[in-house]
This record gives sequence, C-alpha cells and structure tokens, in this order.
Amino acid sequence: MSQAAPYAFAYHQILVAISGSVCLFGTWVGMRHFARARATRGSTRVGWLFLASVGTGAALWASTFISILALDASLNSGFEPVATGVVLLVAIVACFLGFEIGSRHFTLAPEAGGLVIGAGILVMHFIAFKSWHIEGRVEWNSFGVAMTFLLGLGLSALAVNRANRPVTRWCRHGAAVVLAFMICAMHYALTASAATIADPSMLLPAYVIPAHVLGLAVFGAILLVMGSGFSTYVIDMKIRTESADRIHQLSFNDSMTGLPNRIAFNERLAFDAADAHERAQQLAAFSINLDGFKVVNDMFNHSTGDLLLIEVAERMRRRLGPGEFLARQGGDEFLGLQMSGNHPRDAEAFAERIAGVFAQPFQVGDQQVRLTASIGYAIFPVDTPDRDQMLSNARLAMDRGKSKQRGLICRYHQEMDDTARARRALARDLQSAAARGELELHYQLQATLADGKTCGAEALMRWHHPKRGMISPAEFIPLAEETGAIVAMGEWALRTACRDAAEGRIPGTVAVNLSPLQFGRDDLADVIHAILLETGLSPRRLEVEVTESTIMSDQSRGLHILRKLKAMGISVAMDDFGTGYSSLATLHAFPFDKIKLDQSFVKRLPGDAAAAAIVRTVLKLGESLGMPVLAEGIETAAQWEFLRSEGCARGQGYLFARPASLRQLPDAIEAAARFASDEPPAKAFARARAAT
Ligand code: C2E
Ligand code: MG
Ligand code: MG
Repeated sequence: MSQAAPYAFAYHQILVAISGSVCLFGTWVGMRHFARARATRGSTRVGWLFLASVGTGAALWASTFISILALDASLNSGFEPVATGVVLLVAIVACFLGFEIGSRHFTLAPEAGGLVIGAGILVMHFIAFKSWHIEGRVEWNSFGVAMTFLLGLGLSALAVNRANRPVTRWCRHGAAVVLAFMICAMHYALTASAATIADPSMLLPAYVIPAHVLGLAVFGAILLVMGSGFSTYVIDMKIRTESADRIHQLSFNDSMTGLPNRIAFNERLAFDAADAHERAQQLAAFSINLDGFKVVNDMFNHSTGDLLLIEVAERMRRRLGPGEFLARQGGDEFLGLQMSGNHPRDAEAFAERIAGVFAQPFQVGDQQVRLTASIGYAIFPVDTPDRDQMLSNARLAMDRGKSKQRGLICRYHQEMDDTARARRALARDLQSAAARGELELHYQLQATLADGKTCGAEALMRWHHPKRGMISPAEFIPLAEETGAIVAMGEWALRTACRDAAEGRIPGTVAVNLSPLQFGRDDLADVIHAILLETGLSPRRLEVEVTESTIMSDQSRGLHILRKLKAMGISVAMDDFGTGYSSLATLHAFPFDKIKLDQSFVKRLPGDAAAAAIVRTVLKLGESLGMPVLAEGIETAAQWEFLRSEGCARGQGYLFARPASLRQLPDAIEAAARFASDEPPAKAFARARAAT
C-alpha cells in the first residue's frame, strides 16, 4: 500500500468566521451572567451560574465543532455521537465549576476558576478530536500540543481574572474577548499541530454522525445560546425597571423626614451593588449619626427634636447629587449611598458635603443649636467585597470616629474589624473580671487648697487583665457601660470603698463614681443603703460623683434619686463640670454638695486667659449657689496657687497625690502631710517664681 502525503487543512473561511463569532457571542453572554452571579447570593447565584455555564458551554461546543467542520469540506469525515454529547457536557460542567470557583471571594479565586475552565476546554478539544473520524490518519506534533495546552490554561485564567477584578467597565467585554480568543487560538494551534494523511483504504465507521447532521445540531446550539442571551437580557431589563419602580414606591416611607426608609435603602443597595459590579464602578455606603442628639432631645422636648431632624434631613437632601441616595435609619441615624465614578476622593467629598450641612447652627424657637454628625463610610468592592457587610462596616467606621471626637469623617479599614473583635473579647473578659478578683480600687487623695491638708479621697477603678496587664478605666468603663457590666462593677466599687473607709484606711470622705446605667435602676438608693448598713460606714463619709449626662438621660427621675441619696445623708458631687451640655440648668435644678471642675480647664492654667476666665466664672457661680468647687487635675504649683488665690476650696491632682493602691495609700497620706507642713504650695510657688 502506498504511503499517502501529509495533508494540509484548507480552512473554509466563512465557517471559520461563524465559529469565531459564535464563540465570542457565547462567552460575552456568559460573562454577563457571571457578573450577575458574583453580585447575588443563594439560589439566585446558582441560577445565574447555571445560565452562564449553559450559554458559554453551548457556545464552546458549537464553535469547536464548526471549526472542525471548517477544516476542509472536501475531507470525508464524521463524528462519534456519544462523544459529541460528552463534549457538550464537559463544556457546561467545566464552565459551571470554573464560574462557581471564580465567583468566590478567596484570594486567587478568579484565576483558579479560569484554570478550571481552561482545563475543561482542553479536555473538550481532546475528546472532540478523538470523536472525529476521517478517511485517513491524524499525526500529532507533541511540542505543538504541549504549547497549545499552556496557552489555553494561561489565557482562560486571564479571562476570568479580568472579569472578576475589573478596573474599567470594558474589562467584562475584555474578558469575553480573551476567552473567545483563547478558544480560537487553542483550536487553531491544535489543528496546526496535526497533520492528516489521507488513506482511502480507511473507511469511516458506520455509526458516526455525518458532518451535515452535526451541522444541524450545532445550529440548534447557536439558537440556544442566542435565545438564552436574549431572554436573560429581557428579564434583566424587566427586573431593573421593576426594582426601580419598587424603590420609588418604598421611597418616601419615613413619615417624619420624608426621606426613604431603611427598607428602601436595602433595595437600593442591592440594586446599585449589582449595577456597580456590572459597570466596574465603586459604590460607597455611609452611616451618618448626629453627635449628642440625645442631650438636645432631653434639653428641649421631643417634638422640637423632631423638628430639628426634619431640618437636618432637608438640608442634607438639598446637597445630594446624581447617583446619590439618602435614607433615614431611625432616631438620629441616616444612611447614604453614592455610585462613584471611581475617583478615590468621590466618597470623601460626599461625606464632606454632608458634614458641611452642620456648619450653620439650627434655629430652635429663639435659640440656636449647633450640631455635628459623625460619618463613617465603606467602599464596595475595594474595602468590602461583600455588599451585605457594607453598612455594618460603614457603621463601624462611624463608631470609631465618634469614640475619638465628634464630627469626624472616617473610612472603614480592615484593622477596624480586628479592633472590634478585640473589643468584643475584652467585653467578654470584663463580664467576669469582678468575680475573678481582677478589679481593684485605687484612691486619689483630695486636699483643701488653703492649707494643703487631706480632706478625702476619690475611688478609681483599676483592672488587672490576666494577659494585657493594667487597663485604664478610660478604656474599660465605656465598654462596661455598653455591655451593662458596669452595674455589678459599680456596686462592687461602692461596697469596697465603703468597707475600706469604714476600716479607717481612707481619710475623710470617700468619693465613688456612679455610672448612668446605675442610675437607670430603681433600686440604687436601696443598694447603697444596704451597703452602708453592711459595712457600717456613716453616710456622712460617702460622696457619690455623677456627671451631667447621668442626670440628663432622665432628668426628673435622676433628680428624684439624688434627693433620696441626699436625704440619707450622702453628699453628691457634680463630676467633670464644664464638659457637659446644660451646666447651669442642672446646677439650678439640684443642690449639689460639690462641683468638680473638669481638668481640661485646670490644665490650661494659669497662662491661658480664656481658661482662667472660665475658671473664675465657675468659682463665682459655685460661690453664689453655695456649692464648693473642687478643681481636678492640678499638676503644677502655679495651678494650685492660681486656684487658691481665686478662692477655689479644694483640689485633686498629681501635684498633691497620684492615685494609689490601698497598700500604697499610707505612704501617699504621709507624703501629702509632708507636702502640707514642710512645703506649703504657696511657698513652693513663690520659690518657683523666684527661680525663673
Ligand atoms: P474622673 O472621675 O474624672 O476621675 C479623675 C481622673 O483624672 C482619674 O483618671 C485620675 O487618675 C485622673 N487624674 C487625677 N489627677 C490628675 C492629674 O493631675 N493629671 C491628669 N492628667 N489626670 C489626673 P482615671 O483613674 O483614669 O479614671 C478615668 C475616669 O474613669 C474617671 O474620671 C471616671 O469617670 C471613670 N471611673 C474611674 N473609676 C470609676 C468607677 O469606679 N466607676 C465609674 N462609673 N467610673 C469610674
Ligand atoms: Mg470622678
Ligand atoms: Mg472628673
């Protein structure tokens, strides 16, 4: 038998063009569906993945066979029926798995998904060529085949990478082009690695499907791809119009401010997140919270508070631009959304615009009220790939800013999550801190400024954390207030301080701080009464310190409790005076036994003229109301001298004594006595002045 010469393929140009177009259209439809899958969850996601894989798989299948048919019409060939079906199945399954993996959120998910699709396409081609029978033999060039495989895998990983990490809106189309190009390139690289040797003696098996029958099946697949593409496009458009209508319906649901409500916000968020993903844009979610609004509400009445909220909402609404959305979550919290043009400053500029609303004071009757808002935001998908997390992340950022300072704009960072987690762990530990004996009271002595003599001590809580060591009350008291642990801790502090004082270890009165939460309980006076009975301390030697916010949360109730305590003979001090909101009103409403001037003013003495003026005013006020003033945070002799000469009765600060444990307290008392006798502060001050 004579050896036939190798046969070079003569491509059918029109079929080649059809094959490329089918492939491109199918992958483009597939990428659209894939984008939808990425932005949805649960069964909807699986549905989109299924559509994406059927569309793309059928297109791959059709284009593969068209391009094989395009090899040479004159070549007598046929296809094995089962293998032809298996090729379709492999294509769909590989696409499904690839898209499934690619739409997950782990680091190299897109690339891993792409590799799966690439591998599937290779297997598909392998089976397709295997199922292809010609009257002759096919010889493969192994180097060409290996290069084809590498090219195929690399390009498909690149395609899913582009689809999943879009940098511009064109990336999605780029992904379809890369995938289509990869399939075509692989197919033709594979055929270029093959040579056929015609051999008329090799007859086609009887069971193969003739080329024209397969052509019909391919035609059916093309219709399937086009049909699925078109119908999902129609459904998609319909869903968009419907959800836009629903958003509109739900839009004006907050009856008070006329702003959209939380439900409308959630709908809009879902809609915009899908759109942002589709168009490779960024979407920012904002949490906007008014600072100290509760105090304003308590100061005026609730209907005035409502009027203020309406005005705030109206001002913010007027500042909205295109693609921006504002809703009211409830209370004094608002929510914002901004579809941005991908500029890094877009979201920040929106937040600044909203913050600008508060630059002008608000008019309440004949009074002006200044408000600020803390704003937190998170950007999808840069900060938060999961759209459901956007709002909680924005809120986390807002809380973080608020805890530092009023009126801050704060963007979400991953570390905030870590901090929040650490805070939760700390809160858990705090629940059992008292029971495990990790809490301790330190005492800071207080003095009369005229002679420097000790007149009492303030109990200050300390927490020895088993792992973190000593934690400042500035950190754990707010946490204990958030979780409610402060109630038990505060009771423990009262009992311990009263016991220590009753045992004669603390000179004069012992002052204990009370938290607003302790005030919220009806049994506070009974608890204190029981503690006094239990420890045997005279009520005359107990002083409780309250801040304005403690009383303001429910003024009439707060004052009622204070009166009860006073009736028992316990003295009441107003702590941190000058930092609250309605200082004068509170002082008028209740006869405090002492005003504790906040250390923020004392710190600036004596050089700062404004602080000096405030301190003088407070001292005059105390005098006219018959309430002695105790200055907190005295650190220098100059501060001591200034306060003494201005008539301030008492003081507390590092100059006189630092907070000391019960064990160190005798030494501190001794040092304080030396301070009073050996070196009276006035003398120390005169000496310091002479030295300069
Ligand atoms: P506070 O009641 O205003 O206590 C005074 C704070 O000022 C204490 O901080 C004290 O150590 C600090 N201090 C005193 N003298 C000076 C000074 O000369 N310079 C400076 N820079 N600071 C000075 P500490 O112990 O960190 O307590 C912070 C806050 O934690 C307290 O402020 C109080 O509000 C709260 N706190 C402490 N113990 C308790 C407690 O048992 N119950 C409740 N509810 N709150 C507590
Ligand atoms: Mg205090
Ligand atoms: Mg204080």
